[in-house]
Amino acid sequence: MAPLISVNEVTKTYVMGTVPVNAVAGVSFNVEEGELLSIVGPSGSGKSTLMNILGCLDVPSDGTYRLEGDDVGELNDNQLAQLRGRKIGFIFQTYNLLPRLSAVANVQLPLLYSGGKDGKRRSITALEKVGLSQRLNHKPTELSGGEQQRVGIARALVKDPSIILADEPTGNLDTQSGKDIMEILHKLHYDEGITVLIVTHDPEVAASTERVISMRDGAVVADQTSGEYVKTILAGRGSL
Ligand code: ADP
Repeated sequence: MAPLISVNEVTKTYVMGTVPVNAVAGVSFNVEEGELLSIVGPSGSGKSTLMNILGCLDVPSDGTYRLEGDDVGELNDNQLAQLRGRKIGFIFQTYNLLPRLSAVANVQLPLLYSGGKDGKRRSITALEKVGLSQRLNHKPTELSGGEQQRVGIARALVKDPSIILADEPTGNLDTQSGKDIMEILHKLHYDEGITVLIVTHDPEVAASTERVISMRDGAVVADQTSGEYVKTILAGRGSL
């Protein structure tokens, strides 16, 4: 079976004035169904650019990105939007919830386009999975940051996507709420076999996933188990 994600020599070049900048420079890796992994690197290392490509928000300048066998670079904007809508669940650092809508209505939003009569029931089930059955009708301002992020996770889950892409999911949260969010993502992975890819600059978040891809200057500099990753970090600087 083809890997869920296959990234092969992907490059993304931006031209600044007359100078081309490779934000992502010849990156290759595969992700199999059911993995829980992270992409880690300092600011400017190309994580967001790679994330946009993986999330079908952008296409490579060079190289190929296949999602479940489909060559994403061959698709037009409409086809990209469709693929994104069907297969990718996004979780954002700033939650991106609509302030006027209740938790359940926010979760139901991605289903409005795909139709289906049982959208509300599915949204409630997704909110139950993230422990928010008591907050269905709360609006975002009536929820804590951690709860808002849990709504964000439910919204990503409700479409039953092929992969969940989480961009700094704990970046706006206090330590305990961040841990709670990571625990939910772990649970989705272990209990339901959901594929989760987290982009982060935080070594602790990265270390809590099973596989860590490290980026520097647009390139992959290591692709390790979390155990190997932790050893490398400890050897280099003595703490996470
Ligand atoms: P990260 O998410 O790891 O902080 P980015 O993917 O945002 O890194 O950026 C990688 C590099 O590409 C940076 O040097 C950044 O300045 C450059 N870059 C990103 N987006 C653009 C753009 N739209 N135009 C020009 N340069 C960009």
